Amino acid sequence: MTFRFDNSWLRELQGSFLRLPPDPAPAPQLVALNLPLALELGLDPALLRAEGAGWFSGATLPSDADPAALAYAGHQFGGFSPSLGDGRAHLLGEFLSPDGRRWDLQLKGSGRTPFSRGGDGKAALGPMLREYLISEAMAALGVPTTRSLAVATTGERVQREDGALPGAVLARVAASHIRVGSFQFHAARGDAARVKALADYAIARHDPELAAAPNPYLAFFDAVTARQVRLIAQWMGLGFVHGVMNTDNMAISGETIDYGPCAFMEGYAPGTVFSSIDRQGRYAYANQPLILAWNLARLAETLLGLFDLDADRAVDLANARLGAIAGAYRAAFVQVMRGKLGLRGEDAADDALVDELLSAMAGADWTLTFYRLAGAAGGDDSRLRPLFDDFTAMADWLQRWRGRLAPDAAERMQAANPAVIPRNHRVEEALAAATAGDMAPFEALLAAIRAPFTPNEAYMLPAPQGFGAYVTYCGT
Ligand code: AMP
Ligand code: MG
Repeated sequence: MTFRFDNSWLRELQGSFLRLPPDPAPAPQLVALNLPLALELGLDPALLRAEGAGWFSGATLPSDADPAALAYAGHQFGGFSPSLGDGRAHLLGEFLSPDGRRWDLQLKGSGRTPFSRGGDGKAALGPMLREYLISEAMAALGVPTTRSLAVATTGERVQREDGALPGAVLARVAASHIRVGSFQFHAARGDAARVKALADYAIARHDPELAAAPNPYLAFFDAVTARQVRLIAQWMGLGFVHGVMNTDNMAISGETIDYGPCAFMEGYAPGTVFSSIDRQGRYAYANQPLILAWNLARLAETLLGLFDLDADRAVDLANARLGAIAGAYRAAFVQVMRGKLGLRGEDAADDALVDELLSAMAGADWTLTFYRLAGAAGGDDSRLRPLFDDFTAMADWLQRWRGRLAPDAAERMQAANPAVIPRNHRVEEALAAATAGDMAPFEALLAAIRAPFTPNEAYMLPAPQGFGAYVTYCGT
């Protein structure tokens, strides 16, 4: 069998893509194949092993593939670009998993397209393995995300700041690649018919039950909002910094998408930024909920004409929703924190309990603090104490927290607070080794992050002092 592609996007959304093949890869080699994911999706592991080097590098195509680059626009760091699109990606097709769900299979790093602008259309091995690792970590942590099916090297070298690096392609699976920017692409051209066609398509694909709602487009906007609010609350609970929350990097499926300069925060600091180009801190850790609301406002703007034929009424409907996002986010975040803190039921004072912990833990390792709090539920805080610069403020907090604990708090906290996240120094070490031809550290790290709730001493410690401030890069 091949994928038995069924390409609804190409069939139904004329004007939203350009058909073209990936670049040929001269000497393809499969370096990572996600067997657990393949099995989940009903794909044949033996076939993927046999054909993967060709298929996932772009060297050969599955017999029924109909590759295309998708069009989208986007606000990048607040500035609008009417034509972004897949500048180095090809949708190979959509397939159905045995549970009836529809998936995009996309290659990333597979060559130039008419959307490439100045870029070379390629990707280096390190950044593709990085997306593979971090997206697998997110999946294991229960966070909605696009998945990585494979990484193949192409046999080419790509020129980057640090020299000629091994070129690679990532094969990525997503519930869809519909972005806020996909709507903006047509809205920016004043093409109301295509905005409506895309909205109808998105509803049919992600929220089919809403087609019968009194106002399906408002209901769709609410559904996207609910998914995104939950997603960002999960990111925040894990200390995850996406790094480039442009509107083209926000998926209406509610999946985390486009792992570029992302990283997990170690010492808690609201202003944490990793991306080399985010000099203003627009996408800093604590700004993510604000950017979420900002991006949803951009989505709402594209849908106004569908919300109501009367323009004033459409704006009122949108504003009522946009005004509610901050409150909905806060409620979702506090709910995430109740899980992390093992609290029993809900209490009006939980909000303050969360805030007070956050101010007391300035600088403390985010992941280890919550992990060790689970141990402190029983009364022994000796492992927690060394994480704090000043533990005095915590005495009173711990007492109030213990008064709020659920009977099974320790178990619940162990299931909510990972021991293992992809620590930045470990990620870098694995990618550097892989770039030099040694995949062993990558394999070991991958195994560790796939069991995030299992203590694993070697992967739990923060970066050593000498590692310094972590800097990440886009478009690599
Ligand atoms: P990203 O920052 O990865 O979300 O990418 C933003 C835009 O730049 C998208 O339109 C990408 O397709 C495009 N892009 C990123 N890197 C490259 C590259 N090496 N070659 C061509 N286009 C790229
Ligand atoms: Mg992107």
